[in-house]
Amino acid sequence: MNKIRENIETVKARMRAACIHSGRDPESVRLLLATKTVSAETIRQALIFDKNLLGENKVQELSQKHSQLIATGTEFHFIGHLQTNKVKQVLKYASCIQSVDRLELVQKLDQRLQFEGRNLDIFIQVNTSYEESKFGISPENAISLAREISKYDTLKVKGLMTIGLFGAEQKRLRKCFRLLRNLKSEIKDLNLANFAPDELSMGMSNDLETAIEEGATIVRVGTAVFGDRIYPDSFYWNEQNPS
Ligand SMILES: *Cc1c(COP(=O)(O)O)cnc(C)c1O
Repeated sequence: MNKIRENIETVKARMRAACIHSGRDPESVRLLLATKTVSAETIRQALIFDKNLLGENKVQELSQKHSQLIATGTEFHFIGHLQTNKVKQVLKYASCIQSVDRLELVQKLDQRLQFEGRNLDIFIQVNTSYEESKFGISPENAISLAREISKYDTLKVKGLMTIGLFGAEQKRLRKCFRLLRNLKSEIKDLNLANFAPDELSMGMSNDLETAIEEGATIVRVGTAVFGDRIYPDSFYWNEQNPS
């Protein structure tokens, strides 16, 4: 069997087991393939037998692969740090931006969407690990950002996204995911306009089980499907390397 396919089967089995373990319906969690550095050809192999979401971190990679993969009918989400000067570009390709984390970006997105006369699905990215290297609004400021976002009719908030703590022991990792889940409930209770925050995008190759136990509805997986990447993730998560 093809290696990519084998890896996806393994990941799906892990997802299923975690759902069953926590009494959840396996259908309630979707797999997003985090495809940074992966070629369109390889991604195509992953899509042949199963339709999953795709997530890109950089606008340039997104634009290239989008044109090569558009025919597959796959949905692209943007999951990287988004600079305001890339807003127009990213809106050509992404059906959802999971990394909305500041008001300046919200305003730029709204401006462009108004110009195009349409809406966009977004997630609010929260820095649940409090690490400086990670983007996302701080948990303390997430509610006030949510209130601000609800004033913009072009933005439909579908949920929250976070990157957990790397290499951390289970307990600390779980705390990050639980924090995101609690924030989601808190925001949901506010009944804000344009908000239907039902999704929790959390969990990656190493921690998807814990994330699912804590309520993830989308897990974002790269390495476990495509193998190790050449570039360290800091290359993709660092302000010095604009998307
Ligand atoms: C790369 C990346 C992932 C996937 O990470 P893996 O550890 O390779 O599974 C998930 N989310 C974001 C935002 C990423 O940049």
